[in-house]
Amino acid sequence: MLRQLKMAVFPPKCTVCGNFFHSANRAENDVSGYLNLAQEVGRIFSELMSPFLCQKCCQGFVPVKSPLCIQCGVMFKSREGEDHLCAKCMKASNKIHMARAPGVYCDTLMDIIHSLKYQRNMELARPLGIFLFLFFVQTWGKNTIDIIVPVPLHALRMRKRGFNQAYLLIRQWPKLVAHCGLKGYTFQISSQVLLRHRKTISQVGLGRKERQKNIQNAFRVSDPSFINEKRVLLVDDVYTTGSTVNECAKTLLRNGAKQVDVLTLARV
Ligand SMILES: [Zn+2]
Ligand SMILES: [Zn+2]
Repeated sequence: MLRQLKMAVFPPKCTVCGNFFHSANRAENDVSGYLNLAQEVGRIFSELMSPFLCQKCCQGFVPVKSPLCIQCGVMFKSREGEDHLCAKCMKASNKIHMARAPGVYCDTLMDIIHSLKYQRNMELARPLGIFLFLFFVQTWGKNTIDIIVPVPLHALRMRKRGFNQAYLLIRQWPKLVAHCGLKGYTFQISSQVLLRHRKTISQVGLGRKERQKNIQNAFRVSDPSFINEKRVLLVDDVYTTGSTVNECAKTLLRNGAKQVDVLTLARV
């Protein structure tokens, strides 16, 4: 009641376009209800983000759609045919077992990731984390992941920003598993096992080759016994060229991980 009154007097402002709007306000009370909405990624996004975005901006979410590469998850330009291996993954330079993202890095999704990261709009982390969790459950089966690891920031950047956006997206997942009564999702979350020990310049604006060079040997594993023979899921906000997650995967595999998958909110 108080919330309804507050909304009438101070209608929410859309995070993306800045317009005032009327929020449908039905989001996230019962997350388990969304588990049955298989594949309707755009609708789940709209409902979860409805307290923060106007309807028009909710519709500005662009889902990743088949056909895509079964390994790295890149969307093929041709919108027809089945999923298959892309030319790059066929050359087997990719260390990642499977990479997936629910949305394309453009329009609304790009704006809200910027808002979370650079404007510290922390209240977005919860609905985005739920959204990513639902996509994870739809995409990865039961008992397929042992440890979930956020792509780490260097300690200095962490201190400057005050948070790791990748960790914010996953920290509520064990609670969501319990809330939804899901069986077979017994993963652990560790933000300490993979560390970024070399300071790198921002990858923004660098080409593929420069990114690879910039990120080389930037990571280390704090305790190899923790990941030994484990199936690891790396989580980040955006998958750009894959240089960062591939370097993380290399480091994890070299230290005994059995397999490395990647989940990001968005993909370029
Ligand atoms: Zn808007
Ligand atoms: Zn591929």
